[in-house]
Amino acid sequence: MRQIQNFIGGEFVAAASGRRFDKRSPLDNRVIASIAEAGRTEVDAAVSAARAALHGEWGGLTTEQRVELLYGVANEITRRFEDFVEAEMADTGQPRHVMTSAFIPRGAANFKVFADVVKNVPNESFQMATPDGRGALNYGIRVPKGVIGVICPWNAPFMLMTWKVGPALACGNTVVVKPSEESPHTATLLGEVMNTVGVPKGVYNVVHGFGPDSAGEFLTQNRGVDAITFTGETRTGTAIMKVAAEGMRDVSFELGGKNAGIVFADADFDAAVEGIFRSAFLNSGQVCLGTERVYVERPIFERFVQALKVKAEGVKFGRPDDHDANYGPLISQEHRQKVLSYYRKAVEEGATVVTGGGVPQMPGELAEGAWVEPTIWTGLPDDAAVVREEIFGPCCHIRPFDSENEVVALANDTEYGLSTTIWTKDLARAHRVAARVDVGITWVNSWFLRDLRTAFGGSKQSGIGREGGVHSLEFYTETRNICVKL
Ligand code: NAD
Repeated sequence: MRQIQNFIGGEFVAAASGRRFDKRSPLDNRVIASIAEAGRTEVDAAVSAARAALHGEWGGLTTEQRVELLYGVANEITRRFEDFVEAEMADTGQPRHVMTSAFIPRGAANFKVFADVVKNVPNESFQMATPDGRGALNYGIRVPKGVIGVICPWNAPFMLMTWKVGPALACGNTVVVKPSEESPHTATLLGEVMNTVGVPKGVYNVVHGFGPDSAGEFLTQNRGVDAITFTGETRTGTAIMKVAAEGMRDVSFELGGKNAGIVFADADFDAAVEGIFRSAFLNSGQVCLGTERVYVERPIFERFVQALKVKAEGVKFGRPDDHDANYGPLISQEHRQKVLSYYRKAVEEGATVVTGGGVPQMPGELAEGAWVEPTIWTGLPDDAAVVREEIFGPCCHIRPFDSENEVVALANDTEYGLSTTIWTKDLARAHRVAARVDVGITWVNSWFLRDLRTAFGGSKQSGIGREGGVHSLEFYTETRNICVKL
């Protein structure tokens, strides 16, 4: 069993209180790690270390020197690729191919891409006229915001954490990361990488624990934290925002979703089925961008439901390294209880269960894991809880529609606004509908295709702010204007 420590000022440290908590495997519920839970003492020490680093060697580096260090971090992640894959598989139980093709490479890319952004981004300048005719020159410079509190979820832990740490460090900030209690491994491993590469001590810190009355809340409450970037549930974001109001600290939030998939009758049918299958069921449905509401134009509705059912019933549950398997469990027993409670509620609300709705029979010790069946429903009213609330499991409700206006209204009938995926061969319609759905990210004839230079974030209750490319600089730097009278 692994012993996981906090990473503060370049050292791996336990908690002064001696408090630890267990991490259980989603595969079989075995305890796989014991984690030192940071108390206020450790969180305060981490913030102090981050503050000291800002004013130390790190703060004195040129952009080029910082960029070189971040390239080094990316390369070291790639060199230790297998360690990261193993660590993430242990925490999430998801298949190896998901780790190797997407989640871990993206972690390395997050350091490279933002190093490049910072290296190449121009600053603005304006010449202005003045009454004396001599004029003045304004130019902006970007300075780091300071110590950034980074609070992360468990669903794609390394990718989502580095998506914040990469740009934060590229911009010259220092960070204190609070990974999810369900996924402590890769953030800790990244501490080893930072030390190997020679990132100055205190630039990257990790404190482990929970949210309320634990490391998460202690971190947001610490007034030495200048800004907070958070990915997680909308209601957690609301709690964090209240705390961040003390000291008027900036927040960047990537929150929940209840995303619509829209399939028009003229879509490439097989591509649309494959696309919606991925968007509803990838990572066992634990993707914020996933589609739990699917709207299919009536002429192809029945055929589409049947085709998606066949695919959902074709998944093979098993361990991440099992070559015959391609499907993993949910993150925890607790999350499974939540998802299964929605499976029951769907039936109570009158759904037709097209497939799934329960727990698969797993052999031996896997029977103790957090497995659930991919589930498809039809026939629910638009105000059903299952159609309105984020479940964050491998499930979707499919509903027919008859017109473009109707489906746009249905897609927008939600308090969330994260993403949508539209399937059609009519490009004019694709552009029209894309512009009318109130979300931060729209895909046409694809899903989860990410160019890291583009803006990422949610509308309505799905988030505040945009990260990605130069948009990340808006949050991770302060722009100062310098006005020079000529
Ligand atoms: P969560 O909100 O329960 O927890 C996220 C993190 O916040 C954890 O580290 C947790 O310990 C911490 N936390 C909880 N309460 C806190 C508090 N009061 N103060 C400080 N920290 C606190 O979310 P989760 O269950 O880990 O993740 C799933 C959620 O994340 C879903 O809603 C999903 O849609 C969302 N998500 C959004 C995006 C996006 O980009 N928009 C990406 C991935 C996940």
